[in-house]
Amino acid sequence: MPVMESVIGLEIHAQLKTATKLFCSCPTSVGSEPNSHICEVCSGQPGALPRLNAKAVELAAWTGLALGSKINNFSIFSRKNYFYPDLPNGFQISQLTPPICEGGGFTLPESENKFIRLNRIHLEDDAGKCIHDKQRGLTLVDLNRAGTPLIEIVTEPDFRSPAEVVEFLKKLHTILVHLKVTEGRLEEGEFRCDINISLRPKGSEDLGIRSEIKNLNSFRHVSQAIKYEVIRQERQYERSEPIIQETRLFDPVRQETRALRSKEEAHDYRYFPQPDLPSVPVSPATLARLKSELPCLPEETTMVLLSLGLTREQVAIIQNRRGAIEYFEAAKSFFDEPKQLATLMLELLLPAALREDIYPLETKCTPKLLAVLAKLITDNTLSRRAAYNLFPEIFEHGTDPKELAELRGVLQVSDAGAIKALAVDLIKAHPNEAKKYCNGQEKILSFFVGRLMQQSQGAANPKLAGEILVRLLKSQPK
Ligand SMILES: [Zn+2]
Repeated sequence: MPVMESVIGLEIHAQLKTATKLFCSCPTSVGSEPNSHICEVCSGQPGALPRLNAKAVELAAWTGLALGSKINNFSIFSRKNYFYPDLPNGFQISQLTPPICEGGGFTLPESENKFIRLNRIHLEDDAGKCIHDKQRGLTLVDLNRAGTPLIEIVTEPDFRSPAEVVEFLKKLHTILVHLKVTEGRLEEGEFRCDINISLRPKGSEDLGIRSEIKNLNSFRHVSQAIKYEVIRQERQYERSEPIIQETRLFDPVRQETRALRSKEEAHDYRYFPQPDLPSVPVSPATLARLKSELPCLPEETTMVLLSLGLTREQVAIIQNRRGAIEYFEAAKSFFDEPKQLATLMLELLLPAALREDIYPLETKCTPKLLAVLAKLITDNTLSRRAAYNLFPEIFEHGTDPKELAELRGVLQVSDAGAIKALAVDLIKAHPNEAKKYCNGQEKILSFFVGRLMQQSQGAANPKLAGEILVRLLKSQPK
């Protein structure tokens, strides 16, 4: 058998963060009573007409802008026909050609900067949910989710390993959450992917016959499913058994994929333009506005953090915590010392927030308070140790760090006059040591600094004390 390589492409669905559904004004919020968020449009009543949610269009276009896609100023919706109990219309409203965004992509720094190309991004609505009541032997339908806006991001088959896929998905997830395009809660299925996977002899340009693994919403399961599927297909080849184009499901308990149905081709869906909706316009003016509102991407923040000497692991900790980058950016707007802020976040804020199971921006230690704390340390007004001791109270009660430090009497004395007075007395009291310093024993400086700190009961700013002592000692008559 020739050496085989895997060819993998992804289709990612992300639920857009809009208040209402894609074609009606029902709320998108989850966790309500079954069928309480439905109307004649999203429950597929005859004669009901859909109306497009403009916010969803903007979020899709914004995603495209962030991912380097071309935004089409004209795209249309089509009906994708298939029959499921939880699809009330008997079709999904999706986009075939042209979709709202085409092309784009990004690099994977941990996979030798490989560039993954996007094929397209399009808008579509979600289906409802079937609830299987085993006790009563019934299947119930809940349409609350029906009509929820989704974007589907389709990649080219550029991946060759599970590691590349997982790196891509994590980075995409970070970008979408950062842009506030989606909440991205994996456990709620708000960010989920289908994996198309085939094998081919290495060096071949052929794509091979693929299977599709549906609906994975865990990065770990993605990796496990691909590993299993590659081995399964290799065995099929070894036994000269044909690979069947089919849709499979991953069972995380048994760690295997199982056939669900034979995979449909686009023509099986009988796509045709949705006659009830006009085309989707994205005017040049809208596009210009969206561009101007695009925030700094996590990629750029990553570069900033890495350039500060943080390790990739530390950067990942900040990036993987939802809202941590926003927190960092907000704190930076109050005090522009990124390294000091990142250190305080990594060592104090993020661990504390994690212990309380809340997001950084929800804590009482606001970005502004952390910025104040960082400034006190940077100015040498507060020793790092004292700052770390104060932090629990700031975190718990949102106390102002400066007021708290004053109250506790731990502010460092940066009053040069007061320090100088102490230093003058010290040098007078220790003439022999002062002489040794003048004769080149510079190490003796630490003796003076130590004594001065002792006499000020730890309140003197040690850096300033050192500077003043050096100046005085050097001006001693020899
Ligand atoms: Zn509705």
